[in-house]
Amino acid sequence: MSRDIIVQKFGGTSVADTDKIKNVANTILRERNLGHDVVVVVSAMGHTTDHLVKMAKEIAPNPSGREMDMLLSTGEGISIALLAMAIQAAGGDAVSMNAMQVGIITENVHTKARIVDIKTERIKNYLNQGKVVVIAGFQGVTPDGEITTLGRGGSDTSAVALAAALEAARCDIYTDVEGVYTTDPRLVPTASRLDMVSYEEMLELARVGANVLHPRAVETAKMFKVPLRVRSSFKLENLGTLIVGVEDMELQKAVTGVASDSSQLRIVVCDVPDIPGRAALIFSRLSDANISVDMIIQSYARKVENTNDIAFTIDKADLDKTLKTLDDMKDEIGASRFQVDDSIAMVSIVGAGMIDRPGIAALMFNTLGNQGINIKMISTSEIKISCLVDELDADKAVIALHKAFNLDCDEIAEVKGTLPDV
Ligand code: ASP
Ligand code: MG
Repeated sequence: MSRDIIVQKFGGTSVADTDKIKNVANTILRERNLGHDVVVVVSAMGHTTDHLVKMAKEIAPNPSGREMDMLLSTGEGISIALLAMAIQAAGGDAVSMNAMQVGIITENVHTKARIVDIKTERIKNYLNQGKVVVIAGFQGVTPDGEITTLGRGGSDTSAVALAAALEAARCDIYTDVEGVYTTDPRLVPTASRLDMVSYEEMLELARVGANVLHPRAVETAKMFKVPLRVRSSFKLENLGTLIVGVEDMELQKAVTGVASDSSQLRIVVCDVPDIPGRAALIFSRLSDANISVDMIIQSYARKVENTNDIAFTIDKADLDKTLKTLDDMKDEIGASRFQVDDSIAMVSIVGAGMIDRPGIAALMFNTLGNQGINIKMISTSEIKISCLVDELDADKAVIALHKAFNLDCDEIAEVKGTLPDV
């Protein structure tokens, strides 16, 4: 009979020093002793990757992608070897493998490659020999044998992709937080840990500033239906948050979480002639320049001047590129000017339970209005409503919304169930 495979992923803080690595070895052996086969994915120790990036930048302002990947992939190389040694020293049997040895095949793109295939044969052979297999996260290899990396924070994605390829029973992401919260507990002390959240909600929360998991990891988990658990490597008695399909959840509340994100800014293109093709022109050029745009609003056309304003949000880091792209086509657009507003925050409420429930948007706007907070832009999806507000109002907005949607701790306590064992 084949045994269940559990994939365990440990982030940089969980393996920040040798004592922590020894501690992780014990956590792994505990799972192994429950009778599971265990595959471990590990990140670079502590801030190793940041240090490597810093050194590269000291040498060259724009280092080549290939050499960046050669450099950054070394961080995970250190942790897999030390962790395998720690498991052996604790009496277990373990072997470390890098992405090339496994065959984690990616597309041929440096510093943000996507995984296209994972070979499982060598891993399964080692598991059959009774070994814990410790695999380097974040790295991959192209079909031509070039080393790649998956983008910062990418080891979550490595872990989930391995869990999918190995048809693992579960993927546990061990990190320095105790799970996914209704909002940032540092800001709202009454925030509570969610026992369960759906992939869909988690994706929205990850996009709007809840930095618990890499969004691509959640997308992969959703696509292959890998049950994911986020839990603390320092508080093992706490089962963390289980992330599953929305069909496996009982939706008790309209809103699951509140998040805010100050990483964007708003640009308004003023007085654009109201004729077909102008929006297409603006957004095609931005896309050609690889600038991704989030919210977009076009104002109601002014009949007399026959113009309107088009406003959109972008990542703060893309400001220079965006202004240059817009300036280059100013005459083609026929706009009078561009206006930049960089002190904004996007505050969002997320919940699969808001589908078909009226009054959610009204409650959100009323709550902000009662706090005297002005809404600059609004966007909605099936399970999310986002409002752009002044950055200085963001914390106040989150606190008020968390309360208005009954997410404060003691109110949520009664609906908490026990976590099913998957
Ligand atoms: N070590 C890589 C980083 O810091 C990958 C990861 O931690 O997930 O981005
Ligand atoms: Mg990390």
